[in-house]
Amino acid sequence: MIVSVPKEIIPGERRVALVPDMAAKLKKAGLDVIVESGAGAPAGFPDASYTAIGARLTPDGFGPADVVLKVQPPTVEEIGRLREGATLIGFLQPYGNAAGIQALAGRGVTAFAMELMPRITRAQSMDVLSAMSTVAGYKAVLLAANHLPKFFPLLMTAAGTITAARVFIIGAGVAGLQAIGTARRLGAVVEAYDTRPAVKEQVESLGGKFTELGLEARDAEAKTGYARAQSEEFYQQQREVMAKCVAAADAVITTALVPGQRAPTLITEEMVQGMRPGSVILDLAAEQGGNCALTEPGREVVKHGVLISGPLNLASTIPFHASQMYARTVTNYLMHLLKDGEIRLDLEDELTRGPLVTHQGQIVHEAVKAALAPPRQA
Ligand code: NAD
Repeated sequence: MIVSVPKEIIPGERRVALVPDMAAKLKKAGLDVIVESGAGAPAGFPDASYTAIGARLTPDGFGPADVVLKVQPPTVEEIGRLREGATLIGFLQPYGNAAGIQALAGRGVTAFAMELMPRITRAQSMDVLSAMSTVAGYKAVLLAANHLPKFFPLLMTAAGTITAARVFIIGAGVAGLQAIGTARRLGAVVEAYDTRPAVKEQVESLGGKFTELGLEARDAEAKTGYARAQSEEFYQQQREVMAKCVAAADAVITTALVPGQRAPTLITEEMVQGMRPGSVILDLAAEQGGNCALTEPGREVVKHGVLISGPLNLASTIPFHASQMYARTVTNYLMHLLKDGEIRLDLEDELTRGPLVTHQGQIVHEAVKAALAPPRQA
């Protein structure tokens, strides 16, 4: 069975779906690995690092492959180069990518969307969202520190004492917790808030202070560990009581998300006006519309003297380690699908069924199918 790794062509994408270590693991499992020339170079993995472990180079990462490993969803043109009936594993952005998903079904591709991996204990080593959130949470702090016209740590120098920066983190999930740890290591004073009370202990174990807002979120946590959406009334109260914390902060890092929904607006323009000039908001929820009302996804803007950044695809800015982590999750998933060196789908298994979007010419994921169906005529 041939496993292939195409070069990513979306502008700004520097990750590669398979790194040499993981390619070696697949070779050991009896698979033939081919890598498109130059695919790993932007992440720091030259062609020679793949050939050294016995992978072959190819000018076309789609052509003859039985299994294609990707990071970004393939374009319709790329899908046209996939072998009919091939298997594809990667991010597919299934809910907003009707043309791509239909093209994959039309080509008879068995396509797995890594972002649909069930977040259950058994799938932890395949949890690509957590892996990429870890990268983004870390990088968000570095960007905030870089933009801030202040030090993060407390410094006692002959030229005077510098007080530590105050960082407020909204949303203490995977990215938020990584941001707390990173900001603490840089010496900032860190406070964090999350609607899920269960994270208080985790925040404290990283040296952050959990901000008690005196609000009670209803059914804050779903069985899956994710947040549940709250009422508009709740968000209104949250904004009111959080305004003081936002105003006191030098840097605010927002990561608050509710699966399948637009990110809640938690920082209004008025709250931005209440911040000191030179302060920074790093909005990691920008891809889902942003937690700050003034965020412009993909841009850095200065409003009321506050720099507001809404970066997209932050994981790609640490491409070496992001690729290493991505490749490990994808490799673990491919190994999960293999039986005796071949892909054998056990559709009773939720790890196999959960991320499966297209199979045998059909869109087989019910939620994706419903989301992509044309609206019914009244
Ligand atoms: P996420 O990216 O969907 O959300 C980020 C954070 O925003 C969450 O902690 C959420 O509670 C918080 N949030 C939502 N609305 C908020 C609001 N109004 N104010 C403040 N915070 C708000 O979630 P995530 O980081 O991917 O994961 C969240 C949790 O899910 C994890 O901490 C973990 O407990 C669980 N999880 C479990 C597994 C697993 O078992 N394999 C994997 C990943 C995550």
